[in-house]
Amino acid sequence: MNGAASKGRRIPPLRRHVFLLLSVFVLVTLCILWVFQIFLLKPMYASLKTHELKRVSARLVRSVDSPSLSSLSDKLAQSSGICVSVYEITGQTARLSVNSHIRASCILHNLASDSMMNRLYAGALSHGFYTERIRGNFLTGAAVDAKSEVPESIITSTMTENGDKKYLILLNAEIEPVGTTTDTLILQLSIISGILLLAAGITAVLVSGAISKPIAQMSREANKLALGSYDVHFDGGMSKETAELGEALNYAAKELSSIDTMQKDLMANISHDLRTPLTMISGYSEVMRDIPGEMTAENMQIIIDETERLTALVNDILDLSKLSGGSQTLQCTVLSLTNTVRHTLDRYQKLRTQEGYRITFDFDREAYIYADESKILQVIYNLVNNAINYTGEDKSVTIRQICDDGQCRIEVTDTGEGIPADQLPMIWDRYYKVKNYYRRAVTGTGLGLSIVKNILLLHGAKFGVSSTEGVGSTFWFSLPEISPDADKTSPHISP
Ligand code: ADP
Repeated sequence: MNGAASKGRRIPPLRRHVFLLLSVFVLVTLCILWVFQIFLLKPMYASLKTHELKRVSARLVRSVDSPSLSSLSDKLAQSSGICVSVYEITGQTARLSVNSHIRASCILHNLASDSMMNRLYAGALSHGFYTERIRGNFLTGAAVDAKSEVPESIITSTMTENGDKKYLILLNAEIEPVGTTTDTLILQLSIISGILLLAAGITAVLVSGAISKPIAQMSREANKLALGSYDVHFDGGMSKETAELGEALNYAAKELSSIDTMQKDLMANISHDLRTPLTMISGYSEVMRDIPGEMTAENMQIIIDETERLTALVNDILDLSKLSGGSQTLQCTVLSLTNTVRHTLDRYQKLRTQEGYRITFDFDREAYIYADESKILQVIYNLVNNAINYTGEDKSVTIRQICDDGQCRIEVTDTGEGIPADQLPMIWDRYYKVKNYYRRAVTGTGLGLSIVKNILLLHGAKFGVSSTEGVGSTFWFSLPEISPDADKTSPHISP
């Protein structure tokens, strides 16, 4: 099955994307190489050569009247591979005063035509530094075809004056035959282009395979998950990102599966917990209606008690949905924690006297906190209720108030079977019930501790539980202790 995104329009596979991107990259690189190596090779070489001729010319101009001009010219000619001629111009005549030639084919040697000499002279006069590129047979003046290997030449002329003397400096350098080099480069680049495009194709297949294979596998598993099958495994493959995605999805699948199981359990529990009081209510009501003399206060009390149980259950569910939906705000005031605990314990008076429960509260002084009284009362009530439900045969439950170091801690301890260590972290999850517990809480829905957790989190309180199997459990929470005179008109705070 395909994902929703691919249903509307045709999305090309990852492999094609990677191949296209790599191909574009390879082509751009090759274009740059071709432009520089093939098309710009000759112009760049010529420009560098012209620059060098200009530098040599400037050096000769500076030393034109020096007696060592000839040796300087020889030296520069040798080091730069340039032919040099310096003419001394007097009136209409030009006398060759310095002549440094390193190639027999040098054009300066063979300035057969006066017209070229005149051109160079006129160019130097009008431009100061005159350049001319010559291709072909300068001796005969015959043009050559483009493919021939006749070297191209750069010739420059510079005019300088010293006193009443004028000098014409002529330089000549060959632009080396780059044609063969270019042909070799073209061949090499063609081969390299082929190899790189092939490599791009193979890399695209390998890279996209490495990325898309785990994604395709995870996509298949996700579709199964969407259909409600939790028996899935996301294999993230070899790369870090997809492996992390795989782990995250495996975790999500596991959580979804356990939430699903818990919700099914909850439905079973709630149905059971609702059915019991409902059966009692309808049973007693029918008896009271049909049998004379059964309209007694005891029977009425049973109906009232069962109705209260139902109400408590429905309230729990509503409270939790409000707390976890984030719509709950706290109405915080300065309150006596000690009194709140006492007040909660008053509700258990009947249990104490009629059923022999021993519920004790230890505290050394009255302590105050800043909290929402009804919510803290609910926390204490839920913890004490659990302790009573799960405590041992001795029916004893101990509540302690320990105030120290600015914190006030309430501990609720029972002497029951305790909770296995591996299940301790889960008991705060909604709908969670300790597995294989030998005894089921009378009104337990698996919501009480989740409500406690949400309320304490809203208050920013610390809380926890320690339990030893066969010995009992201690649930605790702690909040900052404050002075009873603290500002009692604090505004409402919301989470
Ligand atoms: P319930 O309404 O089922 O008690 P809670 O959220 O209050 O739901 O508790 C979750 C589970 O944690 C309980 O079902 C029980 O298995 C375990 N539990 C809670 N309090 C105690 C306790 N004092 N001793 C042993 N187990 C407890």
